[in-house]
Amino acid sequence: MNIKEKDNLYIAGTYSRFPVDLTTGKGSVVKDSDGNEYIDMATGIAVNTFGYADDEWIKAVTAQLSCLQHTSNLYYSEPCADLAEVLCGRTGMKKVFFSNSGAEANECAIKVARKYAAEKKGPEYNTIITLKNSFHGRTITTLAATGQEVFHKDFLPLTEGFVYCEANNCEELEQLVKSGKIAAVMFETVQGEGGVLPLEQKFVDKIFELAEKYDILTVADEVQTGNGRTGKLYSYMNYNVLPDIFSTAKGLGGGLPIGATLLGEKVKDVLTAGSHGSTFGGNPVACAGALSIINRIDDGMLDGVRKKSEYIINMLKKAPGIKSISGKGLMLGIETARDTGEVIEECRKRGVLVIRAKNRVRLLPALNIPDELLERAVKVIADVCS
Ligand SMILES: *Cc1c(COP(=O)(O)O)cnc(C)c1O
Repeated sequence: MNIKEKDNLYIAGTYSRFPVDLTTGKGSVVKDSDGNEYIDMATGIAVNTFGYADDEWIKAVTAQLSCLQHTSNLYYSEPCADLAEVLCGRTGMKKVFFSNSGAEANECAIKVARKYAAEKKGPEYNTIITLKNSFHGRTITTLAATGQEVFHKDFLPLTEGFVYCEANNCEELEQLVKSGKIAAVMFETVQGEGGVLPLEQKFVDKIFELAEKYDILTVADEVQTGNGRTGKLYSYMNYNVLPDIFSTAKGLGGGLPIGATLLGEKVKDVLTAGSHGSTFGGNPVACAGALSIINRIDDGMLDGVRKKSEYIINMLKKAPGIKSISGKGLMLGIETARDTGEVIEECRKRGVLVIRAKNRVRLLPALNIPDELLERAVKVIADVCS
């Protein structure tokens, strides 16, 4: 059996994979088992922050791997304390809960929001407003938070207590806030899976204005937008706001599974001993890798992200066959005249890996993709779209 046959036989059929078997990579170049080389503009869905087999990241991870791979949360361990200190220092948040994925980071955010509201305002204040077209994960509760029926339909009943507001609709938001017993508003500042759609400043301002007025928590899902992706360390920083809670995962670990839920002043003491937990959460190897990633996302790196973003937008916005470009930083969505699937497939055949977000071609290159590779990839994309 070849790999494809074995995979199809033994692995649950949840993924429709590209017909490629990736074997090795370095930086922004990855190879398949036939020896073909690709410029990677997708980074394992915004995970490989500094590309494949990055030297500094490998050093941090292997150094930790050779001391202790896991301790459980029954003991103290330095890498997770160091990472939490850096995350709080860089964001103004006060405490961190570590988990292993975006969905879990969001589950924690939801639990904190409910516990805070129940203790402060009463247990009936358990409804969370999320946005239509959002994506928050695949567990039953984060599916409930996800404002897209296509993801819900086979898994009912979902967790109760979520209502959905159209993104950028300030009137609907205000009405939902006034008509329910609301614990929190949860949002992605750029809807990733929903099609790389940024929220408008005035809608984000409205969320925070209403949150203040009605003592509602603000929860930013930074799973995809976080960790330098949008040209700021976290994307809420593009909007000059500070959420009460934010979740992140994907790019935080640079390729190892880690999720984090950051808790601001209001909610920092909501979680108490026994109220939440995770066996692998705060794993020292994942934390050592994440610490090396976060420490490298400094002003110079973020400046580079914004410059690379401008370059892509300038080169593609007037290219024939490209209808529009959305997104922020190195999280961009291209609306093409040609069929999205065809564009993605042809880019791959011509040595450039891109992915889809709804009807857009999604670009999520490494934050440090060399300009020369970026130029080559952008040329291929422009060519394929025309
Ligand atoms: C990917 C994603 C998630 C889910 O993350 P997992 O690690 O797959 O559980 C949640 N929210 C957003 C915004 C995402 O992009």
